[in-house]
Order: sequence, then C-alpha cells, then structure tokens
Amino acid sequence: MNKWECTICDYVYREEYGEDKKNVKPGTLWTDVPEDFRCPSCGTEKGQFYEESMAKILKHRRH
Ligand SMILES: [Zn+2]
Repeated sequence: MNKWECTICDYVYREEYGEDKKNVKPGTLWTDVPEDFRCPSCGTEKGQFYEESMAKILKHRRH
C-alpha cells in the first residue's frame, strides 16, 4: 500500500489506514479516494498530493 503526502503541509495519507476524519475506510487506494477529498490538516485539494517519495522531491525543490 502506498503513502500519499500533501505537498503543502506534512500530512500523509496512508492507504493502509484510510482517513477517519474524512470517512475514508482503511485500505482505500488513493485512486478510489473521492475527488473532493481535502487535506485534513491544511484543506488543500487532492490534486496537490503526491506519492511520498515524489512529494519529498517537490518540497525539497521549493527550498
Ligand atoms: Zn496539507
């Protein structure tokens, strides 16, 4: 299962655990997460999430 990281803050969505706060069940693949999903921490859109390793690269570039 993959991890998807918000590129605005440090929140990580883990497919293994889902997201209780957003009613996303454990084991939900990122592709099956609703398009209107927002980061529970900063409220950013689903489109701003990247696979963890990619998110790290993108964030690193910004600094
Ligand atoms: Zn965020």
